[in-house]
Amino acid sequence: MSSIYKRVLLKVSGEALAGPSHFGLDTAVVKEICENIKICVDMGVEVAIVVGGGNFWRGTRAGKDMERTRADHMGMLATVMNALALQDALQSLNVESRVQTAIEMRQIAEPYIRNRAVRHLEKGRVVIFGCGTGNPFFSTDTTAALRAAEINADVILLAKRIDGVYTGDPEVDPTATKIDNITYIDILNRGLGVMDSTATSLCMDNKIPIMVFGLDDPKNIVRVIEGEKIGTIIT
Ligand code: UDP
Repeated sequence: MSSIYKRVLLKVSGEALAGPSHFGLDTAVVKEICENIKICVDMGVEVAIVVGGGNFWRGTRAGKDMERTRADHMGMLATVMNALALQDALQSLNVESRVQTAIEMRQIAEPYIRNRAVRHLEKGRVVIFGCGTGNPFFSTDTTAALRAAEINADVILLAKRIDGVYTGDPEVDPTATKIDNITYIDILNRGLGVMDSTATSLCMDNKIPIMVFGLDDPKNIVRVIEGEKIGTIIT
């Protein structure tokens, strides 16, 4: 087994950590994801992770009842819970990791420092980025694009609940079909909801390829790293 990548940015959505209940954390699911991350690390791949928070809270869903900025601050805090859960599971598997947060919380995690993150990766440690970009009105998908550009990742592995990019929403439209390859500009022009337009444009401008795949089977992380063509490739 060998990897076709040297350094990857894995985006794990909050919902992927929730398991069947779609809320909170399913520790068995978290462990299985981390077991597969360990396989990648053992192959010599440098793994950085951006984790979402949608299993606890989404700023956009808070609606008119709450100021958006405050709701987004809560969303960013939610990502830290997930980051700590991933770190805990990695530690139990003897995988060294560091959590870095975009909003300082020094008693819990390191602050985000790009060079330090790269140094950790070079030493074989998994780096988990929490708190998104640190700014409201952004998403953790945009964070994945930003951090991937900053750390010079070869690819973004976009692990989703749905196993690729479809011509429509497969949960609503039974005629929607899966797309194997698509360009960033097509995603934007066709308004395909795989990731928000800010994230897509950032990847397009910085030429970061994105592999979209389903995390229903966590072994998919290893399959993608080995070059297996599952899901959708965005270039
Ligand atoms: N968020 C934010 N700025 C960021 C990243 C995230 O304000 O840079 C907030 C936002 O409220 C978002 C929430 O954190 O809804 C959780 O992130 P996201 O929805 O991207 O998580 P996912 O859908 O991947 O679980």
